[in-house]
Amino acid sequence: MTEKPKLSIGLIGSGFMGKAHVFGFATAQKVFDLPMEIELHTLADITDAAAARAAHDFGFAHATSNWREMLDNPEIDVIDITAPNALHKEMAMAAIAAGKHVYCEKPLAPSALDAAEMAEAAEQAGLKTQVGFNYLCNPMMRLAKEMIEAGELGEIRSYRGLHAEDYMANAKDPFTFRHDPAGGGALADLGSHALATAEYLLGPIREVIGDCVTAISQRPDGKGGQKAIKVDDIGRAFLRFANGASGSIEGNWIATGRKMQHDFEVHGSKGGLVFTGERLNELHFYSVEDAPGRRGFRKIEAAPDHPPYGNFCVAPGHQIGFNDLKAIEVAGYVNAIARQGKEPFSFRDGLRIQTLVEQIQKSSATNAWISV
Ligand code: NAD
Repeated sequence: MTEKPKLSIGLIGSGFMGKAHVFGFATAQKVFDLPMEIELHTLADITDAAAARAAHDFGFAHATSNWREMLDNPEIDVIDITAPNALHKEMAMAAIAAGKHVYCEKPLAPSALDAAEMAEAAEQAGLKTQVGFNYLCNPMMRLAKEMIEAGELGEIRSYRGLHAEDYMANAKDPFTFRHDPAGGGALADLGSHALATAEYLLGPIREVIGDCVTAISQRPDGKGGQKAIKVDDIGRAFLRFANGASGSIEGNWIATGRKMQHDFEVHGSKGGLVFTGERLNELHFYSVEDAPGRRGFRKIEAAPDHPPYGNFCVAPGHQIGFNDLKAIEVAGYVNAIARQGKEPFSFRDGLRIQTLVEQIQKSSATNAWISV
C-alpha cells in the first residue's frame, strides 16, 4: 500500500468545538478514503495544564499555551481555530502569513471588512480555508437542495428558516465571549447558520430587512457586578431571493426549550419541504401530485441512498449525528487541500455570510430594505 502524504493539524481551543473537530478528524479518517493521512500534531489552549490535558485526551502529540509557537513549525500544515470569535481574525491572519491552511469556526470575523481581508490574504497565498458551517454537510440538506434544483417542488415561492436554541435564556448566566460586540450576538452566532442554509438551498439573497433585539440588557460580569449587553438576543430578517422567492430567517439564543432548532420550510408550486435540526435524519416532503385524499407530508429517513450517509452506516434509518457532520466537513476540506475539489465552505463563503449579517444589522437600525 502506498503511503499517503501527511496533513498535520495544529488545533487552537479544546472546548465544545475543539472536541467536535477532533471527532471530525478521527471519524473522517475512518469512514472516507481520504487522499491524505491526518495527524494530530499540536493542541494550543490558554494554560499549559489545559493544553496538556486536552492534548492527552484528544490524542495530540504536543501541547502549548502559546498558539503562535505553532506558526513557525514547518511540520504543521493546518491551523484549526476553535477559540472565541474575537480571536479568529488575529489567529487566521497570522496562520496565513506563516503559509498554513486555515480551518476556522464561525462567525469568521467581527465584520465583513475583516472577513474580506482574511479571504483575500488566503487566496493570494494560495491556501485552502474552511469555515465551520457543518449543518450544510447533512445528507438530508443535500437531498433537499437536489429536490429543489430538480424542480420537484416546482417554482419556489416561499422560504422560512431559523436557528433557535436556549443557552442564553437565563438572564442570570454571565457575560461570555458570545456577548462581545466583536463577532457576538445571536444573528452572527446562530442566524449565520440559518443564512448559510437559506442560500445553500435557494441561491442568492438579493435584499434584506432586519429586526435585531436585545432582550436581556445586562448580565453578571463574573466579578460581582453587571455588564451591559450590546448585542442581539434575537436577530430576524425578511429576505427577497434572486429567484423571486420571499423568505425569512431568525437567529435566537433565548428560545426557551429549543436545543437545536436549525429548521427550514420551502414552499413551491408543486410541493413543500420541512426539516428540523432536532430530527436531523428526516426530511418531510409534500407533493401536490399525490392523489387528492392521499396528500400529506411523507417522512424520508436518511439512508445509504443519501450520500455520504452510507459511509457511516449500511442500514437506513439508523441515523448519523452532529459530530458526523463535522467528519463530512473535514473530508471535503482535506480533499480540497489535496486539490481534489473545492472547499465545502471557504473564507470567501464565510465573507458572504458576514456581509448578510452586517446588512441585516444595518437594516434593523435604518428600518429600510438593503440590497446585498
Ligand atoms: P468554548 O468556550 O467551549 O471553547 C473555546 C476554547 O478556546 C477553550 O478551550 C478556551 O480555553 C480556548 N481559548 C480561548 N482563548 C484562547 C487563546 N488565546 N489561545 C488558545 N485557546 C484559547 O467555545 P466553543 O463553544 O467551542 O466555541 C468556539 C468557536 O466555535 C466559536 O467561534 C463558536 O461560534 C464556534 N461554534 C461553532 C459551532 C458549529 O456548529 N459550527 C457550534 C458551537 C460553537
